[in-house]
Amino acid sequence: MPELPEVETVKLGLSKNLETLGRIEQVKLFRKDLRFEFPKKMKNALEGQKILSISRRAKYLVFETQDYVWLCHLGMTGAWRQETGDHQKQPHDHFRVSFESGRSWVYRDPRRFGYMDLIKKGSSIVWFEHLGPEPLESSFSSEYLFQKSRNKKAPIKNFIMDQKVVVGVGNIYASEALYMARVKPSKASHRLTRKQAELLVSSIKMVLKKALKSGGSSIRDYKNADAEMGYFQQSLKVYDRAGKPCFSCKKPIKKITQAGRSTFYCSNCQV
Ligand SMILES: [Zn+2]
Repeated sequence: MPELPEVETVKLGLSKNLETLGRIEQVKLFRKDLRFEFPKKMKNALEGQKILSISRRAKYLVFETQDYVWLCHLGMTGAWRQETGDHQKQPHDHFRVSFESGRSWVYRDPRRFGYMDLIKKGSSIVWFEHLGPEPLESSFSSEYLFQKSRNKKAPIKNFIMDQKVVVGVGNIYASEALYMARVKPSKASHRLTRKQAELLVSSIKMVLKKALKSGGSSIRDYKNADAEMGYFQQSLKVYDRAGKPCFSCKKPIKKITQAGRSTFYCSNCQV
């Protein structure tokens, strides 16, 4: 599943030479839905528009045109590919937008959990209404996490993966950050100390920055999209290391399931 660093990488890739793309000449939908139906107006509204900027909010790609905000969520297996010249349709290509420069972007999504939306500029974006802060922005601070976690009995791992608390902390990053901060994933959120909140926030930022630096290396390989493999495996300290020795204390790493997701931790180092 593309996580925040992968979406950021896709954003950077598509942003290259944005100013030379030209207007959108043609929008082609190869089917009427992904996870949800494409907005009916999609084709007519986008044709003739120019993409002014591309940004990211949580795991949404946000394309800004003169009149619209066009959102794309990659779901589990969504990917964009850039082409020049004739379109070479491949299996699972669902959407294509061609520009007057002769270049085009093709959206491919084998499992079709991705979706797009088109919102008239100035209208509120419902998808963003309940999203917490971006993890790398200063609004996501230890004081914020500490205050937010008071009276919350949910395990801390589930808590930091809750998009209403903070966006973009996926399953792997949550395990990694908790290990780095030496906080037990099953700890009740309200029992987090100020010091732990501080360590956890800086660990989340560090883990995500590191992933961003490796440039979304997983983006090419969706063979194991379900198993969440292929994500910066080379640098993982605890994820998928069940039974292997902890890098710090050598005790075997434990694996548990929380909210249906695998969690890996060291019962000796994390409290
Ligand atoms: Zn350990």
